[in-house]
Amino acid sequence: MKRFCLALALMFALGVAVADDVKVGPQGPGFYRLRMGTDEVTALLDGTHPFPADELLTHVDRAKVDRLLEADYLASPVQGSINAFLVKTADRLVLIDTGAGPLYAGDGGFLPTALLAAGYRPEDVTDILLTHLHRDHVGGLIRNGTMLFPHAIVHVSEADADFWLDPANEGKVPKILLPMFPGAMDSLAPYRKAGHVVTFRGETDVLPGFHAIPAPGHTPGHTWYLVTSGQDHLLAWGDTVHVATVQLAEPGASIRYDYDEQAAAVSRRRALEEAASKGYWVAAAHVSFPGLGHIRRDGAGYRWVPANYTRTP
Ligand SMILES: [Zn+2]
Repeated sequence: MKRFCLALALMFALGVAVADDVKVGPQGPGFYRLRMGTDEVTALLDGTHPFPADELLTHVDRAKVDRLLEADYLASPVQGSINAFLVKTADRLVLIDTGAGPLYAGDGGFLPTALLAAGYRPEDVTDILLTHLHRDHVGGLIRNGTMLFPHAIVHVSEADADFWLDPANEGKVPKILLPMFPGAMDSLAPYRKAGHVVTFRGETDVLPGFHAIPAPGHTPGHTWYLVTSGQDHLLAWGDTVHVATVQLAEPGASIRYDYDEQAAAVSRRRALEEAASKGYWVAAAHVSFPGLGHIRRDGAGYRWVPANYTRTP
């Protein structure tokens, strides 16, 4: 008996597992705020999605991809965040991208919960700025085929609207991009019917303080939004980077989802250099949630500097 008690005490002391692993629960609703000038920026997480970086990245050696990932304690497939960003100004509530909604099965569709948890309702959103019309950016526009944001005007570049809303262009893309056409058409349909979609051309102020900058490559009309408030700037760069660990070290690395991989790499280098030299806040759709941070130069490449967590922004 004495020996048994001693053995039990020893197991406790050494932390020896005597039961199954504990069940790890899910995260809470994903929102994170920061103050930018006089605006409030809230990152909203729509979900995370496994991203097979080693298969999808191009113009980079596969062994190098694995090495870079391993150095950051990652492995392919990497869980990629699907982020959208809500900007509250004095008179507007502007949502930049909307997540995948129902189009990524169970991996997306959590943005409405995050929005409510952050204290806003879908009907409060006055404007939606789309960086491009891929499924993981437009899918969140609708719920059961109707407008999730009934009062919002949707702004999108004419080049992307012309491309993805016209089935005649299906022959111009690789197979991997074909689902983007019905995704864009279905998600925008109720807004187009209601007259809630406006397009813009080239570099322009879409709204006061929201400057659209063409950044083609990932899609024909892929657009960055430079948000300015006071002296502060935030560059919402959409899909300029998919796997930060690899593409910041190797900015020439593109992905198979790019419509034009060379042009995408040119846009990426430009974004990284602008953000690093000007000290912009960056809002990144697929960098690990909240996808808010800065860029700094690091050797021949760059490094992501995540926002410092602040409980009371
Ligand atoms: Zn995307």
